[in-house]
Amino acid sequence: MLASKTNLNFVLSSGSHQAQVEAMSNRPNPLDLAVIGGGASGFFTALQFADLAAGKRVAIFEKSAQVLQKVRISGGGRCNVTHACFDPRELAKYYPRGARELLGAFHHWQPADTVAWFKRFGVILKTEPDGRMFPNTDSAQTIIRCFLDRAAKLNIPVYQNHFLTGINRLKSGGFSLNFAHLAEPVEAHTVCLAAGSLNGSPLLQQLTALEQPIAALVPSLFAFNVSDRRITDLAGVAHPRVAVRRTGGHPAQHGPLLITHRGFSGPAILRLSAWDARPMADTNHHFPVTIDWLPELKPSELVARFAEIRHSQGAKLVRNTPISPIPRRLWERMVACCDVADQATWGQLPKAASQRLLDALKSSRFEVTGKTTNKDEFVTAGGIDRKSIDFQTMQSRVIPGLYFTGECIDIDGITGGFNFQAAWTTAHVAATAIANR
Ligand SMILES: Cc1cc2nc3c(=O)[nH]c(=O)nc-3n(C[C@H](O)[C@H](O)[C@H](O)COP(=O)(O)OP(=O)(O)OC[C@H]3O[C@@H](n4cnc5c(N)ncnc54)[C@H](O)[C@@H]3O)c2cc1C
Repeated sequence: MLASKTNLNFVLSSGSHQAQVEAMSNRPNPLDLAVIGGGASGFFTALQFADLAAGKRVAIFEKSAQVLQKVRISGGGRCNVTHACFDPRELAKYYPRGARELLGAFHHWQPADTVAWFKRFGVILKTEPDGRMFPNTDSAQTIIRCFLDRAAKLNIPVYQNHFLTGINRLKSGGFSLNFAHLAEPVEAHTVCLAAGSLNGSPLLQQLTALEQPIAALVPSLFAFNVSDRRITDLAGVAHPRVAVRRTGGHPAQHGPLLITHRGFSGPAILRLSAWDARPMADTNHHFPVTIDWLPELKPSELVARFAEIRHSQGAKLVRNTPISPIPRRLWERMVACCDVADQATWGQLPKAASQRLLDALKSSRFEVTGKTTNKDEFVTAGGIDRKSIDFQTMQSRVIPGLYFTGECIDIDGITGGFNFQAAWTTAHVAATAIANR
């Protein structure tokens, strides 16, 4: 039986919710759908389900005192909702894990659908030059407000401070769910696990006991710790276009790089951390990386550029004439670390020093000795094993009636709105399948 309203801590996100509590307690149990997790994918699943299956009972159970917390802090408070990439094949390429499975799912729900859904409910998304899409208010609150208003309109109860601690299968086919501090279990015909990262979650043990396969959990989207005199005291220096790769790892990632107090960050680094998340974790985040500071120039072209500078600017000091787009402070440090004399001019630059500089520009090796979680965005790779999920429905192949959405699955994207898009897409597929059951 669903616990009585007196021991449920119901969120009053709007006045109309109180009426809902009254209505709920009079309805028959069990729930048609219990959504575990009041985050991005949990809300989207519940909203879509309620839209598709009018009259069926769905409720959201959230362990913390606040729903949609990650949405609130996402994209630096602006919420990078999705990415302006409307070709499923192209879109799938942004997912280090789950690309193949998502490709099919994107044919059912892709960024164009996300944009249209939000527009339908008054939220206009705008596109930045790099393809990231945000609400035109530049505020994550717009997304939160939209979800809470929809939930109120669709009479979806949202129970905060409801920490799921136990999932038990009932002989009758449904589930009995135990929540911390709730005397009676909640029963539901179907359950959607939308609990986000399973890192450190007690649900891991529950799922393992139910024989649900789990792929090892490792962090993704992190910055690199590097202690090296070539970047000491250069925190804040940003290079617009480098190519960085892990020795023996994924192909080089191109893009901006930021030197931080601890080492390297920026889009190129975060992307590399995603693509190589597993091998990097295997070495406890100790690995060498190679940076090409001028990826647009082939080595032979750089040699020609040196010759051209020697000819046209031979009297200029090497340390004073950075090659664009290398930032001046970084250039000065590189020149010094290549043992180019302070007063050396291009015209007098010895051959050996010139070669050292060429090598450093095209291939600087650094030792990474740890990771730092990026404050703007990080995700967990790993989670519910993809092979154990039917991606036509998001239902577990092992536990019928149990569905998965969002980050708890072994799916993750690089930065740019791809992780939320995976949440919306998996939520749509699950909600549609559950509504059609
Ligand atoms: C700082 C930061 C910024 C980010 N910015 C972006 C961005 O701009 N764009 C983007 O695409 N991605 C971004 N991401 C990633 C994105 O937030 C996640 O991919 C997305 O939130 C996943 O949605 P979800 O619903 O699966 O999980 P979550 O949003 O994490 O929601 C899961 C919910 O389940 C609850 N829960 C967990 N266990 C239980 C339990 N046992 N019982 C009940 N409830 C439970 C949690 O409290 C949580 O509210 C960011 C991540 C971080 C950390």
